[in-house]
Amino acid sequence: MGKFDEIFDDVVVNAKAAVAVVSKKASTVYDTSKHKITAAEIRGEINKKLREIGKFTYKREVFGVDTSAEIAQAVAEVRELKENLDIINAHIDAVRNQKKCPQCEAKIPRNSLFCNICGAKLTEDESAVVEQAVEEKAEEVAEAAEAAVVAEEAVVAEEAVAPAEAAAEEAAE
Ligand SMILES: [Zn+2]
Repeated sequence: MGKFDEIFDDVVVNAKAAVAVVSKKASTVYDTSKHKITAAEIRGEINKKLREIGKFTYKREVFGVDTSAEIAQAVAEVRELKENLDIINAHIDAVRNQKKCPQCEAKIPRNSLFCNICGAKLTEDESAVVEQAVEEKAEEVAEAAEAAVVAEEAVVAEEAVAPAEAAAEEAAE
């Protein structure tokens, strides 16, 4: 169990790290591929846990061993892994400017007011609000970084212009 705790912690940490990557927004393509890798890892971990649940169930049914505590533990872990997977998938959707219809789970454009597959009326859910906040923050950071670069370029340009101006003044004299 200790070993799994370590793996499980790793997965949770990975999920959180990947979320942090989004706020940096280095590049859309990079973010999406990184998230896809994390999502795949989490799915692999979920499948491993589901197999364990199967083994525990088999033990209980065939050998009459009480494995209910192990099953409950594994089910709780799967639940948490799925929550992490949902977070990652929401980020992938947001980067692609999509969201998931809560009714039919179809991928639809993010600003849709109605699902174009099942027709469900959509209200802005909490994850979309959080996502928007993350994006706004990322934009702020990007703008600040851009402003810093522009300021630096201006200084460089000024430094380049100053000797040229001095030379021109000299020539005029
Ligand atoms: Zn739908």
